[in-house]
Amino acid sequence: MRKFFLFACLAWTCLFPAKATDVVSSPDGRITVELIMNNGSPCYQVSYDKQVVIQPSALGVQTNMGDYCRDLKLNKVTTSDIHDEYSLRNIKQSHVTVEACQAVAEFQKEGRHVMNITFRVSNRDVAFRYTLLPQKETRCCVVTQETTQFQLPTTATSFLAPQSKPMTGFARTAPSYETTYGIDQPVGKNGWGNGYTFPCLFKTTSERTHDTVWVLISETGTDGGYVGCRLLGRMNGLYQIGFPQEGEMNGWGSTSAQMELPGDTPWRTITLGSLSNIVETTVAWDLVKPKYEASQQYEYGKGSWSWIIGMDPSCNFDEQKRYIDFSAAMGYRSVLIDALWDKQIGGDGVEELARYAKSKGVGLYLWYNSNGSWNDAPQSPKGIMNNSILRKKEMKYLHDAGILGIKVDFFGGDKQPMMKLYEDILSDANDAGLMVIFHGCTLPRGWERMYPNYVASEAVLASENLHFSQSFCDNEARDCGAMYPFTRNVVGSMDFGGSALNKFYNANNSSGSQRKTSDVYALATAVLFQSAVQHFALAPNNLNDAPVWAIDFMKQVPTTWDEIRFIDGYPGRYIIMARRSGDKWYVAGVNATGQTIKQTLTLPMFSNAPVQLYQNGQLTSTKLSKKKTLKIEIPTNGGVVITQ
Ligand code: CA
Repeated sequence: MRKFFLFACLAWTCLFPAKATDVVSSPDGRITVELIMNNGSPCYQVSYDKQVVIQPSALGVQTNMGDYCRDLKLNKVTTSDIHDEYSLRNIKQSHVTVEACQAVAEFQKEGRHVMNITFRVSNRDVAFRYTLLPQKETRCCVVTQETTQFQLPTTATSFLAPQSKPMTGFARTAPSYETTYGIDQPVGKNGWGNGYTFPCLFKTTSERTHDTVWVLISETGTDGGYVGCRLLGRMNGLYQIGFPQEGEMNGWGSTSAQMELPGDTPWRTITLGSLSNIVETTVAWDLVKPKYEASQQYEYGKGSWSWIIGMDPSCNFDEQKRYIDFSAAMGYRSVLIDALWDKQIGGDGVEELARYAKSKGVGLYLWYNSNGSWNDAPQSPKGIMNNSILRKKEMKYLHDAGILGIKVDFFGGDKQPMMKLYEDILSDANDAGLMVIFHGCTLPRGWERMYPNYVASEAVLASENLHFSQSFCDNEARDCGAMYPFTRNVVGSMDFGGSALNKFYNANNSSGSQRKTSDVYALATAVLFQSAVQHFALAPNNLNDAPVWAIDFMKQVPTTWDEIRFIDGYPGRYIIMARRSGDKWYVAGVNATGQTIKQTLTLPMFSNAPVQLYQNGQLTSTKLSKKKTLKIEIPTNGGVVITQ
C-alpha cells in the first residue's frame, strides 16, 4: 500500500508540471519529447502530431546509493544527431538506416553528478535509458526499482498479455510469456495481478480531432547485466516498469539488478504513430550492438519437427528418420528433435541420425531442459545447460557430432541470474558453432543483433497449445494470426512452430484438436510470423494428403526477409502485410473478423506480369489492374497470399 501511495503521489505531482524545460523532437518533427523538472523529480511527456499520448510521467531509479527520482537538479542537456546503418539477415528488415535525435540530460543530487538520462527520438520511436555514475569510492550499485512510468490517456484501450504468477502452470514453469492478449480492453487493470508481458500495445484517440495514435511500449538491450522487466498497470491509464516477481526461480534470487558503474539500464522503448510504424519498427535492434562476433556464418532456413503432431512418443529413432526424409523431400535445412531424445533414442542413435541427416543435406537441432533448480519440468536431457562445465563439454560433443543447433526450454523467469544464463548459453554455443532457440522463456530484447547465433524465442502462446486445446484452435486466427504481427513478433523473432496442414493435431490426422483455420491461412502465417529458422508443424503425410499448391508453397517460402510493409489490419481482427525476400514480394493476410473480408488492394510492389493468388482453397494466376490493384477475399479463419 505504501509503495502504491508513492506511485500515486508521483503521478499526481507530474500532472501539474511547472514548465517544460527541454524538448527533443524526431527528425521529421512529428514526435516530441518534453523533459519536465517538477520540484526535483524528472518527468517526460510524449506527443505525436501535437497529440499528447504519454502524459507527464515520472522518470528515475531507486538504488542502494540513493533515490534517483527526487531531489534532483537538471544540470544540462546535450543534443546530437544520430546516424547509423546496419545489416541483419535474421530480422524483419535486412538493412536498416537509423536517423534519430539524441538528448543526454545530466542530473545532480546534493551537488554531485549522479545520473544521465539519454533520449533517442526517431520518426517512429522514442527510447530512453538511465546511466548511473560512480560516486567517490562507490563503483557498483544495486537498482532496486525503476520509477519509470507511462501515463496513457484514460480513454486509451489496450492489447496486453497478462504476466503469469510465478511457479504456476505446467510443472511450475510460469512465467514464460504464454498468455492470450486482451483486445481493445480499457486501461486501469493490472492483468491477473502481476502486470503485463512486453510488448504492450495501446490505442489512443484524440477527443478533439478523433485521430488515432498507436503506442507500443517495450524494452531492449537487456543482457546478463540487468533484470527482464514487465509493465505494471495502475489506476486511470498509468503504467510503470516492474521488476521480476519474488516467486520467480522458485523464490530464490534477488528481484533487483546489480551493476558496475558507470552502468546503463536497458532502453525503454515507445513506438508510436500508425499501425505501419508499429509493425515495421526496428527499434529493438537499432539501439543495441553485437556483443561478440559470429564464430561462423550461421545458416537459417526451414525445418520440421515431429513433436507438435506426434508428441513425446514420436521422439524415437524411426520416426525421426522419417522426418529427416520428410525434410529432405521438402528441401528443408533441418529437423528439430524434441524432448526425451536422450532416453528414447540415446546418444549413439542421435549420432547415427545426424550422419544420416547429413547425407540428405539436413541438419539437426536438439532439445534441452535449461534446469536446474527453478521448476519441476521433468523432461530430459536436463542438468546440463545450467552448468558451465557440463554445458561446454556437451556443446563440444554436439559440434563434433555435426549438430546445427539447440532448443533450450523451461527457463525460470526474469531475475538477473536467469538473464545471465541466456547470455552464457548463447556465448558458449557460439564457441561451438551452434545456433540457439529458446522455449518456455522470456522475450528476446534485441538479441538477434546482440548475439549472432541467437535464432528465436517462443515467449508467446505458441503452436503447442493448438495440440493441447480445441478452444485455442477455435480462436487461432484471432489470438495468433491477427494479433502477433502487431505485438509479440514486432520486437523479436518468434518461434511459433505453426503452419500445420494436418486437419487434426494427431499423427493419425483424424482425432484430437481440430484445426479451424484454412490451408491458405497456414501459408499466410508462414509469411506473417517472422523467425529466421522456422520449424513448421507439417507432417510427412502432408506430402500425400495436403493440396499440391500448399506443399509447393511451403517448399519455397523464405525465412529471411529484406523488407516489411504493413498494408491494412487491426489487432485481433485481421492483417494484410507484405514481405520482400530478394526481389520477390509476398503479400499475406488472415482474417478473424467473423465475416469475409473483400478488399481492393493497391500493390505497387508487383510488376505487370501475372501474380499467383492463393485464395479460397485454390491457387490461380491473375493480373493486377493498370493501376496495380487486385480484388481479394479472405474468409473467416482463412488467409490470402499473393506472390509473383
Ligand atoms: Ca511453451
